Amino acid sequence: MDPKLEERARELRTLLQKASIAYYVHDAPILEDSVYDRLYRELQELERAYPELVTPDSPTQRVGEKPAEHFPTVFHRIPLYSLENAFNPEELEEWQERLLRVLGRAPVPDGGTEGELEYVCELKIDGAALALTYIEGLLERGATRGDGQAGEDITPNVRAIRSIPLRLATADPPPVLEVRGEVYLALAEFERINRERCSAGDPPFANPRNCAAGTLRQLDSRVVAARKLSFFAYALHWPEGWPAGDPPQTQWQCLQQLKELGFPVNPLSQVCRGLGEVIQFYERWRGAQLPYASDGVVVKLNSLRLQEEAGFTQKFPRWAIALKYPAQEVPTRIRAILASVGRTGAVTPVAELEPVPLAGTLVSRASLHNADRLRELDVHIGDTAIVRKAGEIIPEVVGILKELRPADAVPYSLPSQCPECHAPLVRPPGEAVTRCPNPECPAKLR
Ligand code: NAD
Repeated sequence: MDPKLEERARELRTLLQKASIAYYVHDAPILEDSVYDRLYRELQELERAYPELVTPDSPTQRVGEKPAEHFPTVFHRIPLYSLENAFNPEELEEWQERLLRVLGRAPVPDGGTEGELEYVCELKIDGAALALTYIEGLLERGATRGDGQAGEDITPNVRAIRSIPLRLATADPPPVLEVRGEVYLALAEFERINRERCSAGDPPFANPRNCAAGTLRQLDSRVVAARKLSFFAYALHWPEGWPAGDPPQTQWQCLQQLKELGFPVNPLSQVCRGLGEVIQFYERWRGAQLPYASDGVVVKLNSLRLQEEAGFTQKFPRWAIALKYPAQEVPTRIRAILASVGRTGAVTPVAELEPVPLAGTLVSRASLHNADRLRELDVHIGDTAIVRKAGEIIPEVVGILKELRPADAVPYSLPSQCPECHAPLVRPPGEAVTRCPNPECPAKLR
């Protein structure tokens, strides 16, 4: 085993754990989700290639975080799982191939629709998971997901969410009904809360998800009532039987049933036959302006019987996956740094990167802007950089993950001579740009 790989795995674990606590426990993330997701994927791939690197406390081995101590801990009757991620349609196809194998089905032939599986596509709402228990039709308990096995009992706060029914809208409720869904904040409400926090001198929330999760775990239910949390229900379980008639047979029927019982259900969900229709759904909603945050599409096998056949891994259902929208910000390694001389003689440090998919293209270079920026970021060759691409602009390095700096990383600063014509470079006072002053410099003439 290469000690460098061991070191990398250890550093990734430590950083991901730190980020996970900041995200789940303090509701104050230290990394963008897309950066977290990529680093997580890197650790997963390292662990897959070298299973001896897996430790029991690795973030890849568990769901969420242990519940915090401010609330009573409750054990979920039915565990709450996480979702596997696909970052592009190819990964979705790989997932379906695995699913077909587990179900003992033949691969879906190209072009045909025969043998296609039926899915329900739902928007992935970027909020916090909530588990609701109804006994004889009355809300008994509301709990956070926690680590999937045990969460926090936040019932008084759940009662403060107006759209969650305290009593099911049926005269004949099942003895026990478990409802799962996502608590979220409408974007307008999130902005209102942050405006108020800023005028009160409190730090704003980083995003609506963290604000929703933080609000749910407020000790004072009046604060919860004042911040108008919303809810979409997406799953239903009846562990002690269904009262009369047939219980739902499909995810789609579950969603209809949830609506009938009085729960808000996202109206944009759709039944899709085969991955072609799934991708159409994804394309339809990617980049759409919605009144709440959504970070992808959740694809679920429609038949509950097939869901049961497919089962679960330690962490995920095999019958569902989240197809995430493309990231604007990802981490990748700096292989080298070049000083590039432009037409005007301006010298720009450019990072040569391990190629990484970003906002629809494969990115292998990113700007480091100028000498001040290099110093401010303290860039080393070998570092893991955070690269951003917004709109059509050239990708840029916006941060360095110093926690992941290898021992042999090499500091970098701009050369004192032009890399093209070797003239001494100049930086006029008060300017950020370093220049080659030579009017005959071949880089300028090119
Ligand atoms: P997840 O958020 O990727 O997916 C699972 C969750 O999706 C479920 O628990 C559920 O709450 C939610 N969901 C929303 N709509 C749904 C729907 N229609 N059907 C089913 N579920 C739906 O999983 P996770 O395990 O909570 O965490 C992993 C994610 O959290 C990562 O993708 C990462 O982006 C984020 N994270 C970020 C940081 C950070 O530092 N920024 C740290 C830890 C985790």
